[in-house]
Amino acid sequence: MIDEQNNSARRMILQKMMQKGEISRAALSAITGLSRSTVTEVVQSLLDAGILHERPGAYEEQRRGRPAIRLALCASYGYFVGVGLSEVRSTMLVSDLRGRTLAECDLPPVTTPEEVVAQVGRAIKPLTRAAKIASGSILGLGLAIPGIVDHGSGLCRFSAAFGWRDVPIVDLLRRRLGLPVFASNDADAVAVGQRLFGAARTMENFASILLGRTIGCSHYIGGRLYRGHAGSAGEIGHMTLDPHGAPCRCGKRGCLDTVAGGLAIREKAQAAGCAVEQMSELERLAADGHRTAADLLRAAGEGLGLAIAALVQINNPETVLLADLEGFGNGLFYAATRQTIENNILPRLLPSTQIVFQPVEYGFLACGAASVAAQAFLMEGNGK
Ligand SMILES: [Zn+2]
Repeated sequence: MIDEQNNSARRMILQKMMQKGEISRAALSAITGLSRSTVTEVVQSLLDAGILHERPGAYEEQRRGRPAIRLALCASYGYFVGVGLSEVRSTMLVSDLRGRTLAECDLPPVTTPEEVVAQVGRAIKPLTRAAKIASGSILGLGLAIPGIVDHGSGLCRFSAAFGWRDVPIVDLLRRRLGLPVFASNDADAVAVGQRLFGAARTMENFASILLGRTIGCSHYIGGRLYRGHAGSAGEIGHMTLDPHGAPCRCGKRGCLDTVAGGLAIREKAQAAGCAVEQMSELERLAADGHRTAADLLRAAGEGLGLAIAALVQINNPETVLLADLEGFGNGLFYAATRQTIENNILPRLLPSTQIVFQPVEYGFLACGAASVAAQAFLMEGNGK
């Protein structure tokens, strides 16, 4: 029981350290509601372990007594490797305990699980050398996969992108690297990254959407990632928008992916005679008055907006974060999405729901993956 209370206090304190950057013991006690003695005890154990340090010369004025010294996470305590796999571009990076990327590299296109394991194994030494850290200071590795990942067993149940089924990817990597390894669905990894080190650090309830070749989505509810009964919560990419629509690779018809997924938009553009490589080109065509480009982007934004409106009604998140891997940029697609959300949620939810688009690169997936390993170490006490 005491251990459980201490673990929960440790989680709360570390969470606040990540949100605030630097903070005193007194302020930690005030914002967590934990007693001064509990804060002192947990902080001391984190100082002894070297995870926290006192910032010399950084004081916080107090109403009574001496100024309180501020504490900070010791960024160089240990490091995490993040591997973001995707059909377009796979990357690998090393980040520190505060989520900062120290070095990054590209990985060859994904083929078999064994080949991925070999590639990660080959890349880890040059990466730690580029980051100027000792390979022994890596605390864990996180892997983001487009597909269904069983978080508990570390099995990739299914990845349509790579043709993987029931692949023990965590075991394979663990055996090759001798490190704690954590695998996650790519959208879940991005949500964990947002919560731990990103735009959602102070949010308890938010949705994180990944706009790529297909559409991923994850929810934080009450400060925790909500995985659902079988780990598939938040699959808005397969919400049916039109039962008579285009076939989806899941076997159904008219899923959101077939309307607003990057792959589907590009295929439709090509079929209509305006083939583009990048969404920015399609946005430019639309801005110049190209009818087909505008129709495609508007329909995609409306489809996405309807799906988001539904999830806002169901979960009431404070913010919907949209990570844009496709490079739409601030144009017709964003505008149509926003407008459709506004037209389809209850008016009283409008002022309290933020919709935030973030243009991101593929390295964002690897950042999220590293955060999954950091989360396991910091919050769940798993790691080397
Ligand atoms: Zn589908």
